[in-house]
Amino acid sequence: MDSRLLPDNPYLLLTPGPLSTSKGVKAAMFRDWCTWDDDYNTLVRGVRAELVRLAGGGEELTSVLMQGSGTFCVESVIGTAVPRDGRLLVLANGAYGLRMGIIAERLCIPLTLLDFGELSPPRLPELAKALDKDPAISHVAVVHCETTTGMLNPVAEIGRMVKRAGKIFIVDAMSSFGGIPMDMGGIGADFLISSANKCIEGVPGFGFVVARREEMDRLVGRARSLSLDLYDQWKVMEDAGGKWRFTSPTHVVRAFARALEELAMEGGVAARHARYLQNHQALVSGMNRLGFECLLGPEHRSPIITAFFCPKWPGFSFRGFYDALKEKGFVLYPGKVSAADTFRIGTIGQVYPEDMSRLVEAVSMSGFAE
Ligand SMILES: *Cc1c(COP(=O)(O)O)cnc(C)c1O
Repeated sequence: MDSRLLPDNPYLLLTPGPLSTSKGVKAAMFRDWCTWDDDYNTLVRGVRAELVRLAGGGEELTSVLMQGSGTFCVESVIGTAVPRDGRLLVLANGAYGLRMGIIAERLCIPLTLLDFGELSPPRLPELAKALDKDPAISHVAVVHCETTTGMLNPVAEIGRMVKRAGKIFIVDAMSSFGGIPMDMGGIGADFLISSANKCIEGVPGFGFVVARREEMDRLVGRARSLSLDLYDQWKVMEDAGGKWRFTSPTHVVRAFARALEELAMEGGVAARHARYLQNHQALVSGMNRLGFECLLGPEHRSPIITAFFCPKWPGFSFRGFYDALKEKGFVLYPGKVSAADTFRIGTIGQVYPEDMSRLVEAVSMSGFAE
């Protein structure tokens, strides 16, 4: 299929995934695959190797693909990595951090939750104190880019402290992997989690985990779930040359392989990061000019997604604003912060600085600017 023949999407998704994908990625889904022969399994092996490379790793790292949305992957890591006599410490500063705590509770995993609210990064002295006080803590988990607010958490500093204490470090890099340069060794992460439909710019349907091989080897028999057993999933992929345990989302995997090729064609993660930064800067300066204010200070913001206060001027309603912009070809994202009335605009996906200029122009003409 010639991807140029595909119709244009009726609007750009300015959301943190699913997001706007290229025509090449969509066109990659126009064929069927048999899951047990070599054509498909070669594809899976290539994808797994590329993910390890993007995480800055070599032989010491490995990767696993897992059906479902990103949360399925987070649940498979927490439910498989933490042993029966372990304890998980979660550093939360938004909905996705809190979700890791909820997963632990559901799975009856002993949990220590340090909740820093939504507007502050995790405070290291409190982490140090918690690690010091309770030697039963075996694992520490944190979100890299907390998509609730767009806050970028200091994972390298946290990782240094976690490793110094000799604990296993789990990083939810769902909304940042592929869009922000990341070196697992440098962060000290043992497990790094992300999914197909975020910064790699694939379509939704599976997530993935990059892990230290040595840690993966220890996880045999630990899982609290059959379908979310990270170890078994990995073992089958390793031993059967790319086979998935249960039905694989073949078309989505093919689209993902294409998305990885397009990431390389763009110039890799550094080039993509530069584009996302330009998007973010064009968005923020344009919105500020129109009187919209960011929820977070510049020191905490990420190029992934930006939260804005809903303005107080008369006649503004998010619903009306959303509808007016959708009409003009842009889909925004509602807020998720409980402490303030906000909305969010994502700057990841097949979105470019020119699109941000067009968006700001559309906002100024929407009838909802000051
Ligand atoms: C998107 C996202 C997830 C996973 O969400 P799903 O809806 O399950 O795909 C987890 N953590 C973060 C930080 C995210 O941005």
